[in-house]
Amino acid sequence: MDPDRVIDEFKQTGALLEGHFQLSSGLHSTVYLQCALVLQFPDKAEMFGHAIAQEFSNAGIQLVASPAIGGLVIGHEVARALGARFIWTEREAGEMTLRRGFTVSPGERTLVVEDVITTGGSTRDTSEALKRAGAEVVAAASIIDRSGGSAEVGVPRVALATLKVLSVEPEICDACKLGEPAVKPGSRKRAT
Ligand SMILES: [Zn+2]
Repeated sequence: MDPDRVIDEFKQTGALLEGHFQLSSGLHSTVYLQCALVLQFPDKAEMFGHAIAQEFSNAGIQLVASPAIGGLVIGHEVARALGARFIWTEREAGEMTLRRGFTVSPGERTLVVEDVITTGGSTRDTSEALKRAGAEVVAAASIIDRSGGSAEVGVPRVALATLKVLSVEPEICDACKLGEPAVKPGSRKRAT
């Protein structure tokens, strides 16, 4: 799938906003991503799921696993396209764990799927939880990679589109220097 097409779908659904944002970390960024806004449309989720699945059509994937909540919709679509099982991990007291009676067969060939990879932390933690349960984690995937390709997750990784999104302290933010107010994503105020 053409990365530009992926980005267009995000922009058209408001899932990728360009402007001047204050992130929950307190850092400022010129881009805000909210994958839920594109994944609310099942046909688009299905299309991204197929595109990721295509990359692994000969990998013998038996299981797709995703970190909740962000990975649930896309992970499910990838699993459907691969004819694989789908389970998810959740944080419990900070540690990524398998709950709800989910089990893994020894050596089960597993693909970890997230909506967006930033540092790779959630994918790594999910991968570790699956390995502890006995799975063989063979690869990882996301719709968007916002690390610019630098996130390491310990297994081969693919993304449908890659962004290099700089987040900076407000003190050195260019937009702040121009006197533009920063928008908090999730508030009703929309950036233009
Ligand atoms: Zn700023």
